[in-house]
Amino acid sequence: MDRSMGCEGSSVPEDRTEAGDDKEYVGFATLPNQVHRKSVKKGFDFTLMVAGESGLGKSTLVNSLFLTDLYRDRKLLSAEERIMQTVEITKHAVDIEEKGVKLRLTIVDTPGFGDAVNNTECWKPVAEYIDQQFEQYFRDESGLNRKNIQDNRVHCCLYFISPFGHGLRPLDVEFMRALHQRVNIVPILAKADTLTPPEVERKKRKIREEIEHFGIKVYQFPDCDSDEDEDFKLQDQALKESIPFAVIGSNTVVEARGRRVRGRLYPWGIVEVENPGHCDFVKLRTMLVRTHMQDLKDVTRETHYENYRAQCIQSMTRLVVKERNRKDRSRN
Ligand code: GDP
Repeated sequence: MDRSMGCEGSSVPEDRTEAGDDKEYVGFATLPNQVHRKSVKKGFDFTLMVAGESGLGKSTLVNSLFLTDLYRDRKLLSAEERIMQTVEITKHAVDIEEKGVKLRLTIVDTPGFGDAVNNTECWKPVAEYIDQQFEQYFRDESGLNRKNIQDNRVHCCLYFISPFGHGLRPLDVEFMRALHQRVNIVPILAKADTLTPPEVERKKRKIREEIEHFGIKVYQFPDCDSDEDEDFKLQDQALKESIPFAVIGSNTVVEARGRRVRGRLYPWGIVEVENPGHCDFVKLRTMLVRTHMQDLKDVTRETHYENYRAQCIQSMTRLVVKERNRKDRSRN
């Protein structure tokens, strides 16, 4: 092999000493930097869906998570209007920039979910929406302009569970079972400040048992590599044990212990959104933004989208075979 690639007239690359004197340096060690530069230039995108009955604090939590007002133009419906309303799908997009890294965040909301008198199959419009995004991507991928595909696939669905019930309600089970093959579901125990710490623990345990009992496949955090440091392993373990994340949301900043914090002010005290002793908000945000965003996108692409694509190709093949058989029969 010609080790002097790209260094005409010289048999010793200039960077050689960077890798030690006894080993010649080709330069592919810069690959991570090249990938990093390219990705930063392109920017990142992430689509997050929130689902669960209205009033559970979905929009408050999304605003608290991304420190933006994503619901400025939201119109709240009266009880009468909600009875008549069917599940609607709405999208809010926002560009966020942090230290030069751009993130295009799309929030998909499902107003009306669980609000009607009869909620049978109210998961259907949500499932259809997710499938439509897969279908669009499948079409674009098979089309001529594959380079500039707009990817609207849903990477994660935060499913809000009421803190007032005894574990999951039939609607929760129905929704998660219908959607778990299509999207990464992350269960959320809403409004955790309405429960005492032992109640939160009991409720979490019950929800985990029911998820297992009903064969619901929520998003699985990938296993930690054995060579990771102990701190990271402990953090990873704590994250896995927190499911469902018990969260508190707030759009107001209050003064607690001499600091201005995002929290909820009650006559008996303050609950702080970002205090790990009060709720799992920080764990959820760390998982979603800092540690697992790319994995959520990978699982969407490699598992959920691949399942959809395989089903599509299978049914297309079946159609072609059927058509060919029909033609053969009419010819004979
Ligand atoms: P959505 O309909 O699910 O989007 O719910 P909203 O975010 O509009 O919240 C409904 C109501 O619950 C509002 O009055 C919020 O101030 C309140 N709320 C939101 N998050 C919390 C929370 O974590 N705890 C409590 N106690 N109330 C909350």
